[in-house]
Amino acid sequence: MSHSISVAADYHRGSISTQRTSSSEWTQQENNLEAETLPLPRVSRPKASYRLTDFIIQRTLGTGSFGRVHLVRSKHNLRFYAIKVLNKEKIVRTKQVEHTNNEKMMLEAVQHPFIINLWGAFQDASNLFMVMDFVPGGELFTLLRRSNRFPDPVAKFYAAEVALALNHLHSLDIIYRDLKPENILLNHDGHIKIADFGFSKHCSSVTWTLCGTPDYLAPEIIGQQRYNKSVDWYALGVLIFEMLSGLPPYHQPDHNPVVLYEKITRGPAFIRWPSFHENATDIIQKLMEGEPSKRYGNLRHGAGDVFAHPWFREVDWDKLRNREITAPYLPKIAGDGDASAFEQYPEDNAASLYGLPAQDTWGQDFPNFEYTSH
Ligand code: AMP
Repeated sequence: MSHSISVAADYHRGSISTQRTSSSEWTQQENNLEAETLPLPRVSRPKASYRLTDFIIQRTLGTGSFGRVHLVRSKHNLRFYAIKVLNKEKIVRTKQVEHTNNEKMMLEAVQHPFIINLWGAFQDASNLFMVMDFVPGGELFTLLRRSNRFPDPVAKFYAAEVALALNHLHSLDIIYRDLKPENILLNHDGHIKIADFGFSKHCSSVTWTLCGTPDYLAPEIIGQQRYNKSVDWYALGVLIFEMLSGLPPYHQPDHNPVVLYEKITRGPAFIRWPSFHENATDIIQKLMEGEPSKRYGNLRHGAGDVFAHPWFREVDWDKLRNREITAPYLPKIAGDGDASAFEQYPEDNAASLYGLPAQDTWGQDFPNFEYTSH
C-alpha cells in the first residue's frame, strides 16, 4: 500500500491528507457501504453563471492548504464576496481531485446559518474558482490567539453553534473532517460560519482516508481504522479544550507528529488538565473518548446527548439556531469590504495568473466547475 502525503506549511496549522493509492479490498468495501448513502438534497439557489471578469480582486484573505482566498467585489451589484482559487495541476499532483469535487458538492447541498454559503463555481484553463459570501469578522483562530483563552461562557457559545452545524451536516450524511479554529469564521454579527469543506465527505457509514489537522485527529484516524461521523464530535472536544486553555490538549511545541500521535493514541487520561469547570472537563472527556462506540455524539441519542450535557445546560438551542442569542464578541468592521480582521498575506501577484489562456490538461476532472469565458 503506498501513501502520498500533502502537508501545508502555513502560519496556521496545515491540514494533511494521505491517500491510499493502491486498490485494496477496503476500496471495494467502502464502495459497497457508500451505496446506501442517501442522495444529497438539492438546495434551490438562484441560477447564475459567474466568471472572473465579473469581479475586481481586492486582496488575499487567507491561504488554505491547497489554495488562496481573495476578497473580491462584484462589478454588477458592487457587493463583496470571497473567491477561493485552487490550481488544478496542484490539486491533481497532491491527489485532491475527489476532495475538491466533494467540497463543491457538499457546499452546494448545505444551507445553514452557521455554514458558509457558496454562490457558484467555475474554472479557467488552470484554476478552479468558488464564489462565497465574504465573512468579514475574521477567524476564530485570530480572536482566540489574541485573547489567549476564552472564558467558559464564550467557549460554550462557539461550541454550541459548532455543535448545531455539525448536527446539521451529519443529518445530511456529511462528515466535515477538518474542525479547528482556523476554519471557523465570524460574521459581522459575531455568529460563526464554518468554512473549508475541502475534506468533507458524503458518507452514511464509515470511511478511512487519513485527513484533517494533526492536533484534531481522532485516534481511529491515526490508527488507519475505518471511522465515521464521530470524528467530528471528537474534534469538537479538542476545540472546546483549545478555546478554554489557549492550546489543544496534546500540543507539541516542537510539532513532532510522532510524539503527538502517540499522545492522541494514549488518550485523554494522560492530559494535564487545566482548572476547567468540572462540566467542561466532563464534556471534553466524553467527546474525546478514544473508543468511538462510547463517544458522545455517537451513542443511541446521537447529537441529543451532546445538546443535553450539563455544560450546555443554560443554552436555549432554538434561540441559538435562530441567532437570537447575542454573540459574545462583535467584530469591529468599518464598512462593507473591510477585511482588517484578516491577517495580511503577500499577494505574490497571484491574481495576475488567473484567466490566462493555457493548455487545459485537467479540466475534465472537475465536471461541476462550469467553464465560463472571460
Ligand atoms: P480555506 O482554504 O477554505 O480554509 O480558506 C483559507 C482562509 O481563507 C480561511 O481560513 C479564512 O481565513 C479565509 N476565508 C475562506 N473563506 C472565506 C470567506 N467566505 N470569507 C472570508 N474569509 C474566508
